[in-house]
Amino acid sequence: MSLIVQKFGGTSVADVEKIRSAARKAIRAQRQGHQVVMVVSAMGKNTDRLLKLAGEVSKTPSAREMDMLLSTGEQVSVALVAMAINELGSEAVSLTGGQIGMHTDSSFSKARIQSISTERIERLLNDGKIVVAAGFQGIDDDLNITTLGRGGSDTTAVALAAVLKADACEIYTDVDGVYTTDPRLLPEARRVDVISYDEMLELASLGAGVMHNRSIEFAKKFGVPIHVRSSFSDAEGTMIVTESESTSAPVGGAAMTPDEARVTVLGVPDVPGKSLQLFSAIGDKKIAVDMVVQNVGSEGRADVSFTVPRDELTTTLEAINGVIEQVGASGVTHDEDVSKVSVVGSNMASQTGVASKMFRALADAGVNIQMITTSEIKISALVPRSQASDALRAVHQAFLLHERPADAKSWDEIKADRQPSDDVAMMVQRLRDDALEALTLTGISVLDRQARVTLFGVPDNQGIAADIFETIGAAGIMVDMIVQGFDGHDGSTSVSFTVAAENLPESLTVAEEIAKRHGMRDVQGGGSVAKVTVSGIGLRSHTSVALVLFQELAQSNVNVEMIGTSELQVNAVIDETHAAKAQKGLEKVFADSLGGC
Ligand code: ADP
Ligand code: ASP
Ligand code: MG
Repeated sequence: MSLIVQKFGGTSVADVEKIRSAARKAIRAQRQGHQVVMVVSAMGKNTDRLLKLAGEVSKTPSAREMDMLLSTGEQVSVALVAMAINELGSEAVSLTGGQIGMHTDSSFSKARIQSISTERIERLLNDGKIVVAAGFQGIDDDLNITTLGRGGSDTTAVALAAVLKADACEIYTDVDGVYTTDPRLLPEARRVDVISYDEMLELASLGAGVMHNRSIEFAKKFGVPIHVRSSFSDAEGTMIVTESESTSAPVGGAAMTPDEARVTVLGVPDVPGKSLQLFSAIGDKKIAVDMVVQNVGSEGRADVSFTVPRDELTTTLEAINGVIEQVGASGVTHDEDVSKVSVVGSNMASQTGVASKMFRALADAGVNIQMITTSEIKISALVPRSQASDALRAVHQAFLLHERPADAKSWDEIKADRQPSDDVAMMVQRLRDDALEALTLTGISVLDRQARVTLFGVPDNQGIAADIFETIGAAGIMVDMIVQGFDGHDGSTSVSFTVAAENLPESLTVAEEIAKRHGMRDVQGGGSVAKVTVSGIGLRSHTSVALVLFQELAQSNVNVEMIGTSELQVNAVIDETHAAKAQKGLEKVFADSLGGC
């Protein structure tokens, strides 16, 4: 008998009528011959209300008590949904996270799933019951109630689908699928028929709130196809699977994280291990750092800038202040009025001109880019919050995301060409015995014969990044990684990029021309660098990966010249002579997470 997991978000169970309608959907599926597990979120804005209430009682509520409080929202919903199903003539049993055997670690408010026991659910399903499971919550080893993080019911649903080997995982929500960007922000956004795990994981982690990013980690690891669809209509929705709708469009979606903060640690001694101390202190608080840029400064000191979610700024600054003396840095600055705008595309890596197109679109919209980081499938730009919506609209328009790509395929067409993937089966087998949300790495590689070019003293004006990369592109040079950093001292920025080593002389000539045109301070080129890449799933949210990478490089006395992170890769540009040693060292430290691949 086939098994379906159906997840209903807050708006889909916001009132009695909606609860009944969700109940009817589950009953309909059961009457069609499926076993049905429902995963339900708190009603409407209940979680927000509980958060507010806690804030009124305490400025610094304990994380444990917060999870105890927030988990009640889901408990209300599951009971009501089960009652509605019983009332409509089918049989249902509601279960809390603890009752479905959802075991997590003890990181309150961002707990990770360790294991799920399926016996009770399977027994109830075999008895003909509809199981109504509370999303978002679990229990730790001491039976404390934990929660998985905002939006975490998606992760409960996909994790249950994975361990129960469900035939389908349907996510019912208030939009009729995944769009090229949040349709509430841009009405011209287009619903896509099919989006790949890789793109969705990256978009979710960069601000697309339609899916909890960790749910996509599960889906990718276990090969769970996700069907996102509307609670309020029978529209087709979107499939999240291995494939993308287009094999040529450079960008599949755009996302914006409105509430970011930039932190710059000034005058960090430019020796291996110093940035590590900083990031370890932040990593200990389980804060995901993004857009890390190190500006090679003067007199052996560098400014290290990065972004964190704005609501984690205070904790981040506390963590830094705790180690700043030990690190030997001279100070910290921050800006809390910034937003991150990103474009994501699986086909991006093989194409030229994608970055310059994004920068040109931003320049033409009058948006000044404060920082840039790239990785193989995304480009992120940090912009003033007041310009974030204009920035998102501009990039959405530039990549014609409102238009269906000419080669786009529907889910039926993709499904017809599909072969069951051996890799997925192998991975599922291996992960069954593992902690469910444990880090999964798929490889460590080195790309050598690369070169780095850095432009110093780049004026902080709009249009400069566009001009730099248009000029380089016009010279026929293929650029790989790009970072633009923030100079804490004089408000200028520096721009670094990597090219193949054979293109270094030509790149330098072009860079010098650009520097002269804009009155930049200096151009430097470093040949013989290599890009070390650690690949896996969910690498940005598993903050330890970048840390272990830095630690291993620092221990071998290797300086990191550039950093790029995504959910799929962490890249570090280092001196080529250290590359082989670095790769060996990394293979050793990551041996456990790499096992079996
Ligand atoms: P639920 O309560 O059902 O989990 P959420 O509010 O978490 O619903 O997610 C649905 C919302 O996600 C939509 O209303 C939409 O505004 C937002 N969203 C953000 N990015 C996207 C996107 N790329 N596609 C569709 N919806 C998006
Ligand atoms: N109720 C939780 C939240 O609002 C979990 C969820 O809805 O996914 O974040
Ligand atoms: Mg949600």
